[in-house]
Amino acid sequence: MIREIDTKEIAEAIKDMCIAVNYKLSPDMEEKLSTAKETEVAPLGKKIIGQLLENLEIAETEQIPICQDTGMAVVFLEVGQDVHFTGEPIEDAVNAGVRAGYEEGYLRKSVVGDPILRVNTKDNTPAVIHYSIVPGSNVKITVGPKGFGSENMSRVFMLKPADGIEGVKNAILTAVSDAGPNACPPMVIGVGVGGTFEKAAIMAKEALVKHPEEDRPQWTKDLEEEMLERINGLGIGPGGLGGSTTALAVNVRSFATHIAGLPVAVNICCHVNRHMERTI
Ligand code: SF4
Repeated sequence: MIREIDTKEIAEAIKDMCIAVNYKLSPDMEEKLSTAKETEVAPLGKKIIGQLLENLEIAETEQIPICQDTGMAVVFLEVGQDVHFTGEPIEDAVNAGVRAGYEEGYLRKSVVGDPILRVNTKDNTPAVIHYSIVPGSNVKITVGPKGFGSENMSRVFMLKPADGIEGVKNAILTAVSDAGPNACPPMVIGVGVGGTFEKAAIMAKEALVKHPEEDRPQWTKDLEEEMLERINGLGIGPGGLGGSTTALAVNVRSFATHIAGLPVAVNICCHVNRHMERTI
């Protein structure tokens, strides 16, 4: 049965989510930071994590952004195939939600309308929108505004099949080592393995902001565990000032690929890994 959803509802949800994710970190991220404060071995690193936690508390109490870089809005829309949108076009509604959220939430407007001419759009639109059609009659919205200190340090590697899992590990470690303090560590690392050039990059973004898929290969879980340990052994540490907490998490997604290739995308995020899901 077809379900009608007025796109105004989508715009409202996105407005609220843009504000909420910028004022308060998700529980999973807060928990990882709190744990890191206990496990960090360097006294300075411990102190920095303590300051990051204090900053989170201030942001929540005073209802102000966690970071001055409130990100470019990335929105994933999983649309049930039995949904019929009414009202203004869905893309306009998403952008209306972003515009209202960034305005009402007093969030920094960080988007330029053209990458070369670089004039600020002054309302943080357009958002980067990824659509997918799924079974059912719901719409799942994921909002993940992305800061560019860390986005700028992200990489795509087009490896050869013979590079195998060791090549994937080297690619991840290379991207993280090169990022160093520029990605505002402790970081969260999203990794996409397989697909095509663009599929790997989208998977790496999804790995940052969405819950892990339930049914996935064991090697992805093993890779996450090994990479987290090895990345934390790099010694970059909180704020890049040394320590045992360079990353809070490594999340890996994978997809089928071509016989001739092994794409690997590494999307790096800072500790302000903003993400929120809502189903309408
Ligand atoms: S990378 Fe993250 S912590 Fe650094 S300035 Fe951007 S949003 Fe803030």
